[in-house]
Amino acid sequence: MSGAPRLTLKPGRERSLLRRHPWIFSGAVGEVRGSVQSGGTVEVRAADGRFLAWAAYSPASQIRARVWSFEEAEVPGPDLFKKRIEAALALRQAEVPPEATNALRLVHAESDGLPGLVADRYADTLVVQLLSAGCERWREALIGILRERSGCARVHERSDTEGRELEGFAASTGLIAGTAAERPLKILEHGIEYEVDVAAGQKTGFYLDQRDNRARVGILAGGREMLNCFCYTGGFTLSALAGGARSVLSIDSSAAALALARRNLALNRVEANRAEWLEADVFGALRKLRAEGRQFDFVVLDPPKFAPTPKDAERAARGYKDINLNALKLLRPGGLLATFSCSGGVSPELFQKIVAGAAADAGASLLLRERYRAAPDHPVRIEFPEGEYLKGLLLERR
Ligand code: SAH
Repeated sequence: MSGAPRLTLKPGRERSLLRRHPWIFSGAVGEVRGSVQSGGTVEVRAADGRFLAWAAYSPASQIRARVWSFEEAEVPGPDLFKKRIEAALALRQAEVPPEATNALRLVHAESDGLPGLVADRYADTLVVQLLSAGCERWREALIGILRERSGCARVHERSDTEGRELEGFAASTGLIAGTAAERPLKILEHGIEYEVDVAAGQKTGFYLDQRDNRARVGILAGGREMLNCFCYTGGFTLSALAGGARSVLSIDSSAAALALARRNLALNRVEANRAEWLEADVFGALRKLRAEGRQFDFVVLDPPKFAPTPKDAERAARGYKDINLNALKLLRPGGLLATFSCSGGVSPELFQKIVAGAAADAGASLLLRERYRAAPDHPVRIEFPEGEYLKGLLLERR
């Protein structure tokens, strides 16, 4: 028996852990014995005393503990983290060909067996997020291993998400290892160069999960007039222009994102006169374009997360329905709609249903041509469906 503090579940509450789901909610906790600090390791046992897991304790969070390991012999610590990080790197090496990109997610939190830890590589800069009490507790060890195994020249922290606040920690950001990079930082993804702002950009600076979907949209965009909604720093826009789109109108509400998008256009030597940028709220802009009689033959909708959890799904559904309905009204027959949702609280089935509802209301007959998910450096574990947050559909208007 170990000397670690022990968290015992209420009777009957061990089922999700037996299915290897890594979260223990506060309501499932029977008692905690021994003195345990925030982020400290607890041994999790069922009410009948069976060993279930080693987990990181998080007293401030509704997710009271996050599992490091389901094996009794795998006591959390640097050796286990090394093993997990090496496995994560090996998966990327097998799944993401180096010629596709020099920017990728090396560690995807729960889906790589490291709850709360995100590590994104941008060329030789590593950007990390420590979003759980357990990661905060093991900060030095995790960052040391990541830096060594990734070979990156520097580590920049972006622990400034709402999730970290829910764990009871203030934001923590800035350069934490190595020397500052020459600015601007640039990456190369599927032959397209992008400048990335790891200090002030959204998430860790770039939406890496859409990499392969951007490339696919580029292939489909040839000769088309495109509308790219929620364009951020121009990801889908540049892919489409490089793929021979006739024109792309790109909309985002962030002036900073649009400024960077313009710089990205200049970086890639595609004719600037095919691109038009609009700083606006997409909900209003779609209605305005309709009133102006504008039409397109490709629309991309890649909105921010409307529903972080299932309880927000209803409100989110109204948002998705609205933009999809209004986008369909701008789509010519034969036109394509690539529509995405990155809401963990909206399942792929529900998303498809919402889009089908929008099509019915728009009087649009749609063929389902392709389905999209996150790039393979965002792995999905069957026991952790929350990891499958990004889904997309390619629809053709008949
Ligand atoms: N497709 C992008 C990522 C989009 S992220 C890529 O491939 O890189 C979502 C974007 O939506 C962000 O840039 C954010 O600034 C923008 N946004 C959020 N709410 C918005 C709104 N109501 N109208 C317009 N843009 C919005």
